[in-house]
Amino acid sequence: MKILIAASEMTPFAKTGGLADVTGSLPKALKDLGHDVRVVIPNYKQITAGKYLTDLPVPMDGHLETAIIRHTSIKGKYEQIPVYLADNHKYFHRDRMYGFSDEFDRFNFFTKTCLAMLPYLGFQPDVIHCNDWHTALIPLFLKNKFGEEPFYKSIASVFTVHNLQYQGRFPKRVLSSLGLDDSFFTPEELEYYGEVNFMKAGLLYGDLINTVSRKYAAEIQTAELGEGLDGLLRKRALDLHGILNGLDYQEFNPAQDDKIYEKYDVNSLANKRENKYQLQKELGLSMGDVPLVGIITRLVSQKGLDLMAAIIDEIMGLGIQLVLLGTGEDYYEKLFADVKMRYPQQTSVNLGFDAVLAQKIYAGSDIFLMPSRFEPCGLGQLISLRYGTIPVVRRTGGLADTINNYDFETGYGNGFDFLDYSPEELLGALRRAVQLYRNNPDAWSKLIHVAMNMDFSWNRSAVKYLELYEKAINKRKSTLMRAV
Ligand code: ADP
Repeated sequence: MKILIAASEMTPFAKTGGLADVTGSLPKALKDLGHDVRVVIPNYKQITAGKYLTDLPVPMDGHLETAIIRHTSIKGKYEQIPVYLADNHKYFHRDRMYGFSDEFDRFNFFTKTCLAMLPYLGFQPDVIHCNDWHTALIPLFLKNKFGEEPFYKSIASVFTVHNLQYQGRFPKRVLSSLGLDDSFFTPEELEYYGEVNFMKAGLLYGDLINTVSRKYAAEIQTAELGEGLDGLLRKRALDLHGILNGLDYQEFNPAQDDKIYEKYDVNSLANKRENKYQLQKELGLSMGDVPLVGIITRLVSQKGLDLMAAIIDEIMGLGIQLVLLGTGEDYYEKLFADVKMRYPQQTSVNLGFDAVLAQKIYAGSDIFLMPSRFEPCGLGQLISLRYGTIPVVRRTGGLADTINNYDFETGYGNGFDFLDYSPEELLGALRRAVQLYRNNPDAWSKLIHVAMNMDFSWNRSAVKYLELYEKAINKRKSTLMRAV
């Protein structure tokens, strides 16, 4: 199968969150299964490795822009997976990846480039796998603009929602810069409460659509988590799938991880303890067997951190150490800076993005906290399990699909969870985890073994993606046959 994955970020080139991990690792698993898989992302300023391949004109709002296509690859075993970088100085050479007033133009340009470059590269994919709002226009353009050319006609599309909250909503006037007329500005098309909604293009025009866990696929069809798009998602319920993200088990492997202090596996857990001591030392915490709770997250309301604010005294009263690594909204940065002021001995608050410290925290913590309000899949809990760090999570989305609450009677489970979005429930789950850690070291050690022996690698999920691609390709074929 010939597959093009289009996304706004990809590990190791550009990352702000889990999407990058997915686009960095799914292609490897597809390659292992014998397929011709390629990836395209924007050439952000921080990406310097690309080699010039070609340039081509891209039609924008009444004029042509030049897209320079560069080419790079992941180092090592997967060098043969082509990674195309769509470059244009004006749009992408900026100090950060997102958050500009011309986002619609940047990603309009990017999506058009993804399609326009294909004949130049001599690559006609069977399917284009699009991800989140940044690439949601591809399925629409495939059918409406580029679709008039024979080259594009038979290309199928799959659209994956990694987070329904980020939809790419812009004023009506952007329609003309997309080259679309007013007939697209209706509630059945891209209109959304007076704005143009890019995400809707993917949800409407993707041959098949999916999201990153079964539970989230169900949740987004409800008013509570549907972000105003639940009606549309219910209409497409038969085409909507849920495939759990896998984790790159090569990349995230405590036995081979050069970023952590001491490598370890399930048979050398003393080295995990050494990681904890070294982490405590590096972060200025007292060294010892205090339960160490780690949090690594974007600091946004989705992640449920406001629950902690209400009970921070009770949490610290459990006698734990808390290590946070995160970046995001001011409100949360201030909140945790304040926690640090009040509990200087017990906490380490690291405001920033740091891939090395992240691995040290996954390896050195005993408990990993994810009290998310909603969570499409979540990778933090999967990385934690891999590193023998026990997740405490809210039972929502992908967290519900991957973490089973520990049963003190039977010993069944791989973490601790709570359901109600309330500070008391969060405190209760954390208290249970701390209790087991303190009172029953043998049971805790067994729990670590269970966690580390779980398999959330891509093996299963990559096969599911292939099935989805195949289904989309067949659907596209039969639509074309009907049209003849
Ligand atoms: P989301 O995609 O909503 O941000 P996920 O749990 O799916 O959440 O993925 C988050 C990914 O980003 C994980 O790999 C996590 O370790 C990483 N991450 C988040 N914040 C930081 C940070 N401040 N520094 C380093 N890595 C981070």
